[in-house]
Amino acid sequence: MAPEPAEFDVVVVGSGAAGMTAALTAARHGLRVVLVEKADTFGGSTARSGGGVWIPGNEALRKAGIADTPEEARAYLKHVAGEGVSAERQQAFLEHGPDMLAFVTSRAPLTFAWVPGYADYYPEAPGGKACGRSVEPVPMDAHVLGSEEANLNPPYLPVPDGVAITQGDYRWLSLGPRHPRAILAGMKFTGRLVRGRLLRQRTITLGQALAAGLRAGLLAAGVPVWLNTPMTGLVTEDGRVTGIEVTRSEVTRSEVTRSEVTGSEVTRSEVTRSEVTRSEAGGEPGTADHAGGVPAGPAVIRAKLGVILAAGGFERNAEMRRRYQRGPVGADWTTGGTGNTGDAIVAAEAAGAALDLMDDAWWGPSIPLPKGPYFLLAERSLPGCVLVNGAGQRFVNESAPYVDAVHAMYDGDATGTPHIPSWLVFDQRYQSTYVFAGRQPGRRFPKRWYEAGVVRSAPTIAGLASEIGVDPRALEKTVARFGEFAASGRDADFHRGDSAYDRYYGDPRVRPNPNLAPLERPPFYAVQMVPGDLGTKGGVVTDARARVLRADGSVIPGLYAAGNTSATVMGHSYAGAGATIGPAMTFGYLAALDLAGGR
Ligand SMILES: Cc1cc2nc3c(=O)[nH]c(=O)nc-3n(C[C@H](O)[C@H](O)[C@H](O)COP(=O)(O)OP(=O)(O)OC[C@H]3O[C@@H](n4cnc5c(N)ncnc54)[C@H](O)[C@@H]3O)c2cc1C
Repeated sequence: MAPEPAEFDVVVVGSGAAGMTAALTAARHGLRVVLVEKADTFGGSTARSGGGVWIPGNEALRKAGIADTPEEARAYLKHVAGEGVSAERQQAFLEHGPDMLAFVTSRAPLTFAWVPGYADYYPEAPGGKACGRSVEPVPMDAHVLGSEEANLNPPYLPVPDGVAITQGDYRWLSLGPRHPRAILAGMKFTGRLVRGRLLRQRTITLGQALAAGLRAGLLAAGVPVWLNTPMTGLVTEDGRVTGIEVTRSEVTRSEVTRSEVTGSEVTRSEVTRSEVTRSEAGGEPGTADHAGGVPAGPAVIRAKLGVILAAGGFERNAEMRRRYQRGPVGADWTTGGTGNTGDAIVAAEAAGAALDLMDDAWWGPSIPLPKGPYFLLAERSLPGCVLVNGAGQRFVNESAPYVDAVHAMYDGDATGTPHIPSWLVFDQRYQSTYVFAGRQPGRRFPKRWYEAGVVRSAPTIAGLASEIGVDPRALEKTVARFGEFAASGRDADFHRGDSAYDRYYGDPRVRPNPNLAPLERPPFYAVQMVPGDLGTKGGVVTDARARVLRADGSVIPGLYAAGNTSATVMGHSYAGAGATIGPAMTFGYLAALDLAGGR
């Protein structure tokens, strides 16, 4: 006889910021919750990310003395999100975001701090803030997770153990080791490293800290997180979602790792038995529960109250990307979590959900490096580089918010001039001064980058143009004109450096405009740029309570969505650093509150 399906009040799918916030909220409101995760690690894109959280008016911003009003925040979000995004959802995000963050910090070992001066992406728009509304997790010790630390999804960029850099540090470190603020930032993270070693801690920051903090909150709340347990479909009865189908894989890395951590040799059957016992006991706070007695293979998990889909976007699903998005596109240029293949979006659509914003993503110009894309942030804003298209001409403010820069790449391609790939062109002064793609200033680019054709160099601009197949005269003209802008401090073509956001990643030593410097010192370099992304932003349509809607606006009972599984409250834009995670956590929280209220 088949075993009875496991049953919980709430089933959460996906262990990123949205899912873990939802599970924590539901559990702390007295509901029995399980979280299922497809991967053999928890944290998804969230753990890989910068961990920035954009929520106007939150406690950490108030503590930092940031002057803001609900009216300003409302005006700004309305301006950024545009007409297509429901005013009720915008309001729900702004109203409940600060409560959500206060709740999370009271129930998980997380503290947030303002990222000094990280401007909103449109600070000059109505209600925009040049001082910024982004917060990030304060560095924390990964050991709070106990043995579960081994199951934290690694960061996007590998860092030596214990080296913990914050978003605030990154701005200064990108200016190269000689800048006084970079020296200070270096001293800070060295201090963290030494302190960590002395106290036998492993200090983590950014998305690692966010995911670890949320997971620690779930451990304390006794919420089981089942790794290697992909949702394969939704269970629907009489139009109501009543559970999910999963297919648990045979042997899990987490189980093996855990036995490695305890040092004992545990076979799979022994692990399963102990998990069953724990599950029957209802899960012990402080211990990880990765199986809960659900056997390997297909199974059903019932949800008495509802299912919250928080399984990320579809950035890793090349077929879906080609179906919904402009080409050239695929799954190779994304830095998003590897498990994000749109499963929850597909399942929700099959249950009747409407979809929106599927053509868009959290884009950013990226280098298609042989080992995976590198998403450029400060590099485009630092003075002494220009981004040119296949005609050797600039086509966008290089310092523009990353989503806008890629929109310009796609828009331009449609006009017949190839903007994909485009090329970031710079000189030896730039290369010797600034950190580029994580490499220290002046360090030669690896041979394999040249071999892969992503970097070219030449002693003259005309020579470089020939290397990348653009008209030498056109590129010389572009570089000469840019030199004039640098001298006058005004970019008459694309207004680079006019916005406080551009200047955040500029070089304050360079005057009169911290984003503009001439390209004069040979050799010259060109680095290939393609439309990369941090994940997709389209998904199922939800209301202000995170309930999933059909095309006619009716609610699908029992079904909720948050994070990149849902169409974002940011519309086609990006309000500021953290504008994906802030709403993801807030709508995860709201989904759980709705379920708790409707008990
Ligand atoms: C390098 C990088 C830096 C970034 N920096 C920032 C930043 O500073 N601030 C910001 O706001 N955003 C940032 N982002 C974007 C941000 O990380 C994501 O938009 C956000 O974390 C998405 O959260 P989520 O909860 O929706 O999904 P995720 O965190 O991706 O979690 C989804 C989880 O669902 C799991 N899953 C998928 N399918 C299934 C299934 N069928 N069954 C069970 N589980 C499933 C996945 O394996 C994954 O673990 C960054 C992204 C990257 C890659």
